[in-house]
Amino acid sequence: MAARAELARLRPSKVCCARAELGGMLRAGGSLRLGGENRLTVAVETEHPEVARKALLLFRRVAGLPAEVVVEEHGPLRRRIYQVRLVPGPEARRLLADLEILTPEGGIGVDVPASLVRGDCCRAAFLRGVYLVSGSVCDPRGSGYHLEMVVSNEEFAHGLYYLLRLAKFKVHQARRKGREVVYLKDADDIAAFLGLIGAHTALLELEGIRVVKEVRGGVNRLVNAETANVEKSVAAAVEQIRWIEVIREKIGLERLPKALREMALVRLAHPEASLAELGQLLARPISKSAVNHRLRRLRRLAEEMTEEG
Ligand SMILES: [Zn+2]
Repeated sequence: MAARAELARLRPSKVCCARAELGGMLRAGGSLRLGGENRLTVAVETEHPEVARKALLLFRRVAGLPAEVVVEEHGPLRRRIYQVRLVPGPEARRLLADLEILTPEGGIGVDVPASLVRGDCCRAAFLRGVYLVSGSVCDPRGSGYHLEMVVSNEEFAHGLYYLLRLAKFKVHQARRKGREVVYLKDADDIAAFLGLIGAHTALLELEGIRVVKEVRGGVNRLVNAETANVEKSVAAAVEQIRWIEVIREKIGLERLPKALREMALVRLAHPEASLAELGQLLARPISKSAVNHRLRRLRRLAEEMTEEG
C-alpha cells in the first residue's frame, strides 16, 4: 500500500497546515545537534526519498529557508538515510521556536505542540507529517489490520496517543526495541485515519481488500452452514436406514405396501441422496415432502414393531 508515496505528493493548501505538517515531521523524525559556537543543526531524517523531498519543500514554504540533503548509508545492508538539514542560523532558530521545538527557556519541546494541532485542518496535517516519517500500514491480506507510528521519544508518543484518543480512535501504545509504538488495530479506525491524513487511494485500496475479505468470510460461513446441513441429512439417512432394517428383520420389505417398499429400497440403495433426490429416483417421481411423509410412515411402522418386542 503506497500510503506514504501518496501523502508525500500532497501539497498543503494553507500555510498553517504546511507549518503543522513540518512540525509533525520534525517531532517524529527530527534530529537536533548542537555544534560549535552554539550553532544548532536541525534535520528531518528519513529513509524515504519522497519524504525527504517533501521536507525540503516544506522548509522552503514555511520558513523560506534553504535546506540541504545529505545521504548516509547505515549498517551492513547499507540502508540509506536521507537527512534534510537546515542551514544553521538565526532564521533556523526562529523556525524552531515557532514550531515549539525550541522552548522559550532554550530547552527542547518534545510533546505535541498545542499551537500546531488547534484547527481540524492543522491536526490532520500534523498527523500526516508524523505518519510520513514514522508510520506504516501493513497489508491486511497478510495477518490483520495494523497501522503504526514508531517514535523514539516516550513523551511525544504519549502526546500522540492522547491526540488520537481525543479524535475518538481506539489507540494502543507499546514499547518495542526501546522505541515507542503508537498503533491502531481496528479496520474502521485505520480507514478513518488514512482518510483523515489524506491517503485516499490507500484508503480505497484498503476498503477494496475489506470488501473481498468480507465476501470471502460470507462464503466461508455458507460453506460451513452447508457442511452442517450435509451432516444433519447424513445423520437422518443413517436413522432412516436403521428403521428400514428393523422392518426387514421383523416382517420383510416385501410385505410393505408398494409405495413404502419402493421408498425403502431406494433409500437403502442411495444412502447419500437428499429427500428431493430420493423423490426423483422413484418410478413415479414425487416431491420432497411426499418423500418425507413416506419415510415418516416407515419410521412409525418400525417403532410399532420394536414396541411390540
Ligand atoms: Zn491548517
